[in-house]
Amino acid sequence: MDYTFKSQNKEATLKLGQSLGHILQGGDILCLEGDLGAGKTALAQGIAVGLGLTAAVTSPTFTFIQEYATSLQDNLRLVHMDLYRLQHPEEVEVIGVEDAFQTDTICLIEWPKIAEDYLPEDRLDIHIQGSGEDTRIFTFRFQEESWQERLDRLFSILKDDH
Ligand code: ADP
Ligand code: MG
Repeated sequence: MDYTFKSQNKEATLKLGQSLGHILQGGDILCLEGDLGAGKTALAQGIAVGLGLTAAVTSPTFTFIQEYATSLQDNLRLVHMDLYRLQHPEEVEVIGVEDAFQTDTICLIEWPKIAEDYLPEDRLDIHIQGSGEDTRIFTFRFQEESWQERLDRLFSILKDDH
């Protein structure tokens, strides 16, 4: 079953990310897909707030990978990747994308397509439709059942917020 969420503005996307941050745990891999300006980084910023990060999360377009400590649990880290500038799948190995797939790491990947051969099946795919002014549709997809219960929880929290 797909889950969808309609965001009317950046603020709503930040709040969605924040709530999403509350259901995440070490080992999670989230793929953020959508055009330039869709709101992938905005969602990542909300997630970071939900995980208790104080450092500002910015787009890692030029560095590919940024790593942050979280304050929620000892040794839980957030890794934020932006693979937009990669040109060949071999570069995915070179920059160490797979090194972030660890049980103590929550991994957010913008522009994941080039890394598709390296991505485990157990992940959450988030597709963002829309760009430009305001409205965005977020679609959540997953293969592994473990996401079902957590997304049910997330969506019941989001419903209570309205
Ligand atoms: P991406 O990382 O997908 O390229 P960003 O998060 O960097 O996108 O930028 C999203 C842009 O869209 C920002 O300028 C933001 O202000 C704007 N925006 C407008 N409406 C929304 C919305 N509903 N959710 C997120 N961002 C939005
Ligand atoms: Mg971005």
